[in-house]
Amino acid sequence: MKHRIVVLGAGYAGTYVAGNLARRLSPADAEITVVNAVPYFVERLRLHQVAAGQEIETQKLADIFAGTGIQLCLARVTAVDPERQVVAVAGADGGAEELGYDTLLYALGSHGDDRSIPGVAEHAFDVAARPSALRLRERLDGLREDGSVLVVGDGLTGIETATEIAESRPGLSVTLVARGELGAQLSTGARDHLRLACDRLGITVLEHTSVESVEATRVLCADGTALASDATVWTAGFAVNPIAAAAGLEVTDNGRIVVDRTMRSLSHPNIYAAGDSVYAIGDNGRPLPMSCATAGYTGMQAMKAIVGRLTGSKIGHVKLDYPGNHISLGRQDGILQMVDHEGQPKPKHMGGRNAARIKAGILKMSLWTNSHPTFCMPKRKRHLATTQAASATNAAPYAQDAPVNKAVA
Ligand SMILES: Cc1cc2nc3c(=O)[nH]c(=O)nc-3n(C[C@H](O)[C@H](O)[C@H](O)COP(=O)(O)OP(=O)(O)OC[C@H]3O[C@@H](n4cnc5c(N)ncnc54)[C@H](O)[C@@H]3O)c2cc1C
Repeated sequence: MKHRIVVLGAGYAGTYVAGNLARRLSPADAEITVVNAVPYFVERLRLHQVAAGQEIETQKLADIFAGTGIQLCLARVTAVDPERQVVAVAGADGGAEELGYDTLLYALGSHGDDRSIPGVAEHAFDVAARPSALRLRERLDGLREDGSVLVVGDGLTGIETATEIAESRPGLSVTLVARGELGAQLSTGARDHLRLACDRLGITVLEHTSVESVEATRVLCADGTALASDATVWTAGFAVNPIAAAAGLEVTDNGRIVVDRTMRSLSHPNIYAAGDSVYAIGDNGRPLPMSCATAGYTGMQAMKAIVGRLTGSKIGHVKLDYPGNHISLGRQDGILQMVDHEGQPKPKHMGGRNAARIKAGILKMSLWTNSHPTFCMPKRKRHLATTQAASATNAAPYAQDAPVNKAVA
């Protein structure tokens, strides 16, 4: 019987891992199935552009995986049962099914986090998924020309969303609400650049402002202020699906899967995780942030570990680093802010049109990589170290392979 590898999620991490497993493992020994809820690859990095009204083409997963030998299952994952090694899925028609696995890669990504703030779920919009970004776009389309938009959260997504909407829809009055100082995660120069960009785009910045509840046409702040808003966009962080926690996997308080250095679950050795779903410690001893770069590094490490263990070869080591932030400020401006080993911003940054061009190049490159997951597929692929041996290797305790990294508190 072939070794069954099931990949949950065809985002940046899942697509990469599935494609690269298909490149390396013999199809005579291993079958790879990818499960994804929607039929297209979601370019999440550009969802703020979608919300602002730009047309971003989507690529069908069926086309991406055509000819690769990877089986695509378009269904929503509803549960994982690690004891029986099955995944429960629900198809678009509502039909339920179970998929068995020998090795599982969990890469279901994340969604907007409402932080349990009253009214967010009912009244706020977000750009964390394509349907919600399209819902926001529809709302913006329906606003008066001088309508008001309030973007809550000055993380990278909030900054990108506020600037994109302000640039694409100059009549609207856009406000960016920051809990602390705007751009606190940036160097002084980059912060100044960001402020100038907000001024140029007519964005009102409210700093040291904490939103306590959201209503249909206003938000209420901790200091008692009420801010009028025709469309409130909530960008205060991402949360993960509770499926991993419900399955009994070892997870953090916020549900991310705890893994060893090879991205293998600490509690369930034949389950790996990558992307936003994983709680991975970088080489600097700090947790890696949810980001596209993290999806790439953790995905690559998980893939190398799976190949190594299944073929009985040495597990390749992947650097687990977070190089920096590439922030778009509309289509013509941007900020590239590299960070040091401790994750702190380096004093220098790049701002302006060149930064925007580099960001556009990064987006193109990541889309290309994900839409050609088996590029340069080798003609000779590796056999598994015999099905029995592979399962035994797979079940070996992680500690023999790689020590658990400890996070810096
Ligand atoms: C607007 C926006 C801008 C961003 N900009 C940047 C940026 O500039 N740089 C950066 O590094 N990061 C950025 N990010 C973050 C980045 O998009 C994520 O970190 C990245 O997408 C994580 O990749 P992933 O593969 O873990 O998850 P995802 O890309 O979210 O993929 C998860 C996949 O799983 C599928 N899925 C989810 N639940 C289920 C289920 N129950 N059943 C079946 N399928 C399911 C989804 O449909 C999706 O295809 C941005 C995010 C947003 C929203």
